[in-house]
Amino acid sequence: MKVTKELVHVAYEVAVNVYQGKLTRKEGIDKIAGNGRMNSNSAADYIHNLKRLLDGEKFTRTLNSYSMDYYLKNIHLNYGKRGISNALKALKLHITYYENLQKITMHSMREIFLKYDKINSDVFNEIERDEIITILNNENKTKQQLAQELKNLKPTNPEYIKINSKTYKRDNATIAKIKILRDFRCQICSKRIKMKNGSYYIEAAHIKPKHLGGNELPNNIILLCPNHHKEFDYGDLKIFQHTSDILNFNLNSTEYSISLKLG
Ligand SMILES: [Zn+2]
Repeated sequence: MKVTKELVHVAYEVAVNVYQGKLTRKEGIDKIAGNGRMNSNSAADYIHNLKRLLDGEKFTRTLNSYSMDYYLKNIHLNYGKRGISNALKALKLHITYYENLQKITMHSMREIFLKYDKINSDVFNEIERDEIITILNNENKTKQQLAQELKNLKPTNPEYIKINSKTYKRDNATIAKIKILRDFRCQICSKRIKMKNGSYYIEAAHIKPKHLGGNELPNNIILLCPNHHKEFDYGDLKIFQHTSDILNFNLNSTEYSISLKLG
C-alpha cells in the first residue's frame, strides 16, 4: 500500500492532535487509516513516532524518508529550536538502534539527520552571536580593543569561553567581534541590513571552507550580505591571493580586493 505525500501530511496533523490530547490514540489511528488507505499498525507508528521525536526518545519502527523529512521540517516550524533538538536526539537514537539491529547503514536517515543538524546548529550559532554582540555593545569596548583581541586569537585556544559566567563557543565570539569591528557591512558591496529591532543583519563566510580545513580565525572570515554570500559559495570563484591582510579574487568574472586588516 503506497503512502502518498498527502497522507503523510494528514498523519502529521493527526499525530500532533493526539500529542496535544485533542484526539485519543484510537481516534487518531482511525483518522489516518480511514477507508483502508493505510494499515493501522503504520498509522500507529506515525502517531507514536511523533511523540518520541518531540520528547527526544528512541523509537524503534522506522518511517520512510519522505515522512521523516516532513516530520522534522514541521517539528522545526511548529516547535522551534527545542522541538528540532529533541527530534534530532530521538532520530540519532533510532538510527543507532536500527543499524545495530539490522546490520545496515541508514543512508537516507543519516542524510536527513545531517540536514537538520546543520539547520539546528546554524540557528544556535546565530542566537549565540546576537547575545555576544549585545554583551560587547554593553561593555562599550573600543574597536581597537576588539581588534587586539582578534589578533591575539590562536588556533590552539580552547573551543569554549565564558562571558558573564555563561559558556559560549569561541568561534561565535570571534564572529560577533568581527561584525562589530566591520560595522555589520558586506565586504563586497558595503551594504548592511537594518532589522526592525534596530540591530543589523550580516552573514559570516569562510574564505577556505571548513570542510576543506578552513579555520575560524579572523583571516579566514569575511562578512557578506546574503546575495554576495551565496554568490561567493556557489559562483565561479578564483582566489589569487589570500594573506592575513588581503584577499584578491575573481568571482563570476568580476575582480575584487578585500582588506582583511583588523585595524
Ligand atoms: Zn554584498
